[in-house]
Amino acid sequence: MTERTTRAQRLAAPLATDAVKKLAEASGGCIRPVQLRRTDLDTGQVEQVMVPCGATLASKCSACAERAKNLRAAQCREGWHLEVEPIHQPAPPDDWQAWLLEERAESQQFRDNADTAGQDTTYLDDLIAELDQELARAGIRGNPDPGKKKGPRRHRSTRRRQDAPGLPRRKIDPRTTGRVYTAPDGKKFRPSMFLTLTCDSYGKVTADGTPADPACYDYQRAARDALHFAALFDRFIQNLRRFLGYDLQYFAAIEPQKRLAPHVHIAMRGTVSRAELRQVIAATYHQAWWPSTDTVMFDGERLPVWHAPSGNYLDPATGEVLPTWDQALDAIGPHDDPLHVARFGPKFDAQGVLAGSKDSGRCIRYLIKYLTKHVADCHQADTDAQVGHADRLTEALRYEPCSPACANWLRYGIQPKDAREGLRPGECKGKAHRREYLGYAGRRVLVSRKWSGKSLADHRGDRKAWLLSMLDLAADDSRFRWEPVTPGDDDYLPHSRRLLYVLADRARWQAALAEARRKAQGDPASLSATGRAA
Ligand SMILES: [Zn+2]
Ligand SMILES: [Zn+2]
Repeated sequence: MTERTTRAQRLAAPLATDAVKKLAEASGGCIRPVQLRRTDLDTGQVEQVMVPCGATLASKCSACAERAKNLRAAQCREGWHLEVEPIHQPAPPDDWQAWLLEERAESQQFRDNADTAGQDTTYLDDLIAELDQELARAGIRGNPDPGKKKGPRRHRSTRRRQDAPGLPRRKIDPRTTGRVYTAPDGKKFRPSMFLTLTCDSYGKVTADGTPADPACYDYQRAARDALHFAALFDRFIQNLRRFLGYDLQYFAAIEPQKRLAPHVHIAMRGTVSRAELRQVIAATYHQAWWPSTDTVMFDGERLPVWHAPSGNYLDPATGEVLPTWDQALDAIGPHDDPLHVARFGPKFDAQGVLAGSKDSGRCIRYLIKYLTKHVADCHQADTDAQVGHADRLTEALRYEPCSPACANWLRYGIQPKDAREGLRPGECKGKAHRREYLGYAGRRVLVSRKWSGKSLADHRGDRKAWLLSMLDLAADDSRFRWEPVTPGDDDYLPHSRRLLYVLADRARWQAALAEARRKAQGDPASLSATGRAA
């Protein structure tokens, strides 16, 4: 006769499926594996193979997020202290000409993207014009973009703010590596840098990151700075490149501070003095030339109505068509101010870092520390004050337009760009409004094109090649056929079964790797264990 147990006791006993999931997770296995059917074309043998899901957030899959984080660390480490140019440029036509053309192409892309996003393109237009002149001087005839439409350009963006101190510009040298210094004892070294840039103050905060006086904290500016943070970072890099006169490369990670404002950690190749850095930071700003949001025109249940035949939003009372996005932009006059000017705060942190030093490793760990977490999860809200602070910032972001296509423009009497039916102010689907993003919905890691000369996939390939050589396995996949297995297939395995496979794979894999390590270190004990590990 079995002993009677209470409901509570039964619930407290570990469930087999949960236990398997926990074990798989603890051994570094993916808990959302994707199933592939592998057929050996020589023998006809079929095997079900579990492939990791590849998530980057620990809340989805901690093992995959940890692997993604380590891959980023490898990428950061490889590029930071490079001594030779990572991308070899062919001699003909001419290194300098080729470099200029590449820059010209990239600037055009940035400019067109910025234009589509409704951003100010003055800076990039100027840069393109300068590059065209430089190309002509370098002996390249004609315009690289002769089909360029001379469409109606909005001249509002050519205005410059008076308070932006001018920044000296140097001709850019195509090198991407930093300078070499020689110590008095003749030793040569090539220092790199670790920078942290923050937003300005929005009001005094206490040690837990919450405002000393919430009523005096500028949530609107905090929200807008977060929304435009990525554009501001871009501008900073462009300014720094022009100022230093070389093709500066960076690996940057964006994350929130305790006060929930974004800040950016940057590993950069080469160095810049604190005084120069202060100068570049002070001269760097991003203007959002968007329509004014000073007047709320439609609120509550009184909202613009969609008119399907014409594809426009109308004023619910008068039936008048609301101005379109382009009309609203054209209405910004020469005496208007930009909706927002984003700048970094005067406080920054900068330190020189040498290749292979303890500092270098510490900085890289710092850079990747929060990559597996959502922006809002980087700092756990433990107190009522912290929860309240996050609530108020989310509220400030609710009606703040996140992009030209944001539904919130209707609140201010303007049709969003590419307006369509069903838009409601305060219910924009843009990620920036969501609490887990805190206004910053861009990429968390920003890596310049010539950082390591390798893509993330290349770094992943390096790691795989290392593992395979470690295990003495050939990477010959040509005799296998791989197919995805979907729920409709007869051999589709339920999730619990897939987890069992993952657990088995991890155990086998770890034993084999440990064995290979022992062998590599010449441990005689490994000889007797060979049979077991296979
Ligand atoms: Zn996974
Ligand atoms: Zn939005």
